[in-house]
Amino acid sequence: MPITLDQLNTAPLPEAAQMLDGLYEHSPWIAEQALEHRPFASLAALKHTMVRVLDAAGVEPQLALIRAHPELAGKAMVSQSLTAESTHEQTKAGLTHCTPEEFAHIQRLNADYNNKFGFPFILAVRGPRGTGLTKAQIIATFERRLHHPVDFERAECLRNIHRIAEIRLNDKFGFEPTLGNAVWDWHEDLARHTDPGYAELGQLTVTYLTEAHRACAAQLQRQMLAIGFDEAHIDAVGNVVGVYHAGPHPNPLPPAGEGAKTLLTGSHYDTVRNGGKYDGRLGIFVPMACVQQLHTERRRLPFAIEVVGFAEEEGQRYKATFLGSGALTGHVNPTWLDQQDADGITMRAAMQHAGLPATLEAVAALQRDPAKYLGFVEVHIEQGPVLCELDLPLGIVTSINASVRYLGEVIGMASHAGTTPMDRRRDAACAVAELALYAEQRAAADGDSVATIGMLLVPNGSINVVPGRCSFSLDLRAPSDAQRDALAQDVLAKLAEICERRGVRHTLEETMRAAAAPSAPAWQARWEAAVAALGVPLHLLSSGAGHDAMKLHEVMPQAMLFVRGQNSGISHNPLESTTSDDMDLCVRAFAHLLEQLAAEHPN
Ligand SMILES: [Zn+2]
Repeated sequence: MPITLDQLNTAPLPEAAQMLDGLYEHSPWIAEQALEHRPFASLAALKHTMVRVLDAAGVEPQLALIRAHPELAGKAMVSQSLTAESTHEQTKAGLTHCTPEEFAHIQRLNADYNNKFGFPFILAVRGPRGTGLTKAQIIATFERRLHHPVDFERAECLRNIHRIAEIRLNDKFGFEPTLGNAVWDWHEDLARHTDPGYAELGQLTVTYLTEAHRACAAQLQRQMLAIGFDEAHIDAVGNVVGVYHAGPHPNPLPPAGEGAKTLLTGSHYDTVRNGGKYDGRLGIFVPMACVQQLHTERRRLPFAIEVVGFAEEEGQRYKATFLGSGALTGHVNPTWLDQQDADGITMRAAMQHAGLPATLEAVAALQRDPAKYLGFVEVHIEQGPVLCELDLPLGIVTSINASVRYLGEVIGMASHAGTTPMDRRRDAACAVAELALYAEQRAAADGDSVATIGMLLVPNGSINVVPGRCSFSLDLRAPSDAQRDALAQDVLAKLAEICERRGVRHTLEETMRAAAAPSAPAWQARWEAAVAALGVPLHLLSSGAGHDAMKLHEVMPQAMLFVRGQNSGISHNPLESTTSDDMDLCVRAFAHLLEQLAAEHPN
């Protein structure tokens, strides 16, 4: 019989402790201490309380907990002395059926890991979907993590231990994150489409209007219609637009009612090259899951829900970042249609090939009338380490950072590396290197600004020539426009000073500038209420990355919700991941936001 939260909350302490037996390997004290904080509003609240207990315990008990775990496919497995929970998990991952070679490989990794870190390698082998990682995934993760610093690995082991406990707790409570599992599976299914050249490598790349891109759009459209959207179409820039009408249900439809407004939401379905499966797509699938639920319950809300899968956000094939959302706000650069990709294909030709009208008029017609909308919300994976480090599934975005980008070149004097004394050099690369160190330290001084020189190139450089030219990029971001401007002013002043002192000159072109997009307070408050209702502690954070919400921000109120990423929140990388448990919480947070809106706008 599964335990209920009510039973756990009301049972005498020893009995309640018995209910949570075996969550943490040979360490019942974690659950016992957490139980002092009863009653729990939700399983999520209980999980986070246990995280806090272990956090507060300090390093020694944490190490003891890690060391209480058996090695993966280790001697304990062979001698069958594992706990029942561990046996179940290692069996599910196929570790009990290793070939002798695989077994020997894992033993070697176990030994190397233990030698380096002084504790065993811990991995939640049931994985982010709860159904078990493959042996190949386990071995690849093992090999990757061997290269981490020791402090990082200790924290990563603890995060995996909490994930193991989460799954064990779900089992005890008979809880399955069914909404999250569905959303998880939709991601997998959509990730089948990938651009040529990447498909062979098993990598995910979906750039604007390729075959894979158009297959994604068609699949999203079909899926929207299949799960209960009233309309779904692909618009003139390739956005997939699904609408779930307001008003009474079942038919007759409409009236959506004069003045019934629409909630706009969505995110992008294009990817960077060799990207992750969740960047963007999570923000399409989460509201789709909510619409599916409404449809299943035969419910209508007093407002329509418009979910947009934006066709182009990443600016990979064409330099047309935010084309998808920009079309809705009327901010499309007319020269973009003449832009060519690496193969010389213009965007206009690509659009024609995709069966789109490929005219500026058709694109301009996509502009939305903000008066018809309640606002815009976007769900996105965090793409950063904050929530992962705090072990929190959800975070509320306060603002999307302002940014500015430059491309520049420092021009010095190429000269003989052997004969030019150090005090006579005009080394262009050293000037940029000095700028990079300054930008690093200047941004760090703000605490929440970031500065990156991501490209630093000596064209036609030689081992025996002092660099005469050095081209570079500069990317500066901060939570407010003023803070970004102050940062940019200092970095550019430093560049001038460096060049003056070193007797070199420079060019600099500003290539992008985006204003900060603070969340609309009322919308941020709705996300806060939604997260609080799940029993998850609130955490507010700003977004370092740009998002479609930045564009919609120009015409309507917006606010974003972040979902924790696994692997330290790594993104734009195939290791990008999140769990179906976190996705489940996200769907429920979104559904709660819809209910709040419905209560505010009674028919
Ligand atoms: Zn994204």
